[in-house]
Amino acid sequence: MTNPTLPFLPFALPEIGEEEIAEVVDTLRSGWVTTGPKARRFEQAFAEFLGEPQIECIAVNSATAGLHLALEALGIGPGDEVITTTHTFTATAEVVRYLGADVVLADIDPLTLNIAPRLVEAAITPRTKAIIPVHYAGLAVDMLAILDIARKHGLRVVEDAAHALPTTLEKELIGTMGSDATVFSFYANKTMTTGEGGMLVTRNAELAKRARVMRLHGMNRDAFDRFTAKVPSWYYEIVAPGFKYNLTDIAAALGLHQLKRLTAFQARREQIAQAYLDAFADLPLILPPLPPEGDTHSWHLFVLRLADEAVIERDVFIERMFAKGIGCSVHYIPLHLHPYWRDRYELSPEQFPHSQKAYERMLSIPLYTAMSDADVQRVIAAVREIALS
Ligand SMILES: *Cc1c(COP(=O)(O)O)cnc(C)c1O
Repeated sequence: MTNPTLPFLPFALPEIGEEEIAEVVDTLRSGWVTTGPKARRFEQAFAEFLGEPQIECIAVNSATAGLHLALEALGIGPGDEVITTTHTFTATAEVVRYLGADVVLADIDPLTLNIAPRLVEAAITPRTKAIIPVHYAGLAVDMLAILDIARKHGLRVVEDAAHALPTTLEKELIGTMGSDATVFSFYANKTMTTGEGGMLVTRNAELAKRARVMRLHGMNRDAFDRFTAKVPSWYYEIVAPGFKYNLTDIAAALGLHQLKRLTAFQARREQIAQAYLDAFADLPLILPPLPPEGDTHSWHLFVLRLADEAVIERDVFIERMFAKGIGCSVHYIPLHLHPYWRDRYELSPEQFPHSQKAYERMLSIPLYTAMSDADVQRVIAAVREIALS
């Protein structure tokens, strides 16, 4: 039964510790608040976290910015098509439109809710230039299949890894799989946060160079380096109309300490996910799939789906959770249902039966490190009571 004295349990909360706070204060006192030494240290620490100190890490002020920079650096533009999943946040696809290229949406695999490689291949046309797989909820996409398709058809791959930190596939961390670029998000509700922020990761030195220039107004200081040993501190050249996508040192200060805690964060998320999986096994619910044996799921989201035999409707389920003081959400309202995407590409639900059905029957329940064991038990009790009512 609901205890009316319990405070509202939000759907998501960040876990910010004293070390993060002290580092931010140190930044504020240092006099250097925008991009500087801490952003650089954060990039290096991120490369080390990925186990590849030489990999290029480019800190940006959002994952959206990172996706935009990656596609821009790959030369995506008008007349090109980029294939991605309909079951994602609009940021994944909007960056394609920033560049004047077209988005081609593909349906998902009904088991993993990740983009189905078979449908990616079916969506390829002579205009296709790239694929953006999204590691939905933190479960890796079948990247071997995606990279195979890309190789066969000469396509670029940019991974939207906003959910996938840390996630592995065949024991390799997402970010090191061999795509052209991978982009992580440090938005407030992600597995680690800098408030707002993102990281573009690539092994392609040319791509990295272009993204670094475009991250800050299209400003290039290397052009000068080639002709003189001594660059005046005030000199730069503008080589393109770039963007304002740099990460501040205030944000990087948070990131440096969140990154140190990431492995412990993942372990706690996995523990909560396992408690949910155990507690809900007998309910008329479809539970999220486990990663392959030996692999890591980041457990950014815990998505329940009402089974065919469930009598309750999804909207009612969420209302009852809220009535018990527990925040829930839906990931996602598929892109094909949003007016912009629907009208721009004349999309209908029948084209995406798996995403449509999953959407109608899904809800995301709270899963984050700041939850206490009592919070977890409270969510379990509420889900069980509602699912069995
Ligand atoms: C959060 C999210 C983004 C955007 O991340 P920002 O850092 O907020 O720009 C992109 N794609 C997916 C799948 C996301 O969940």
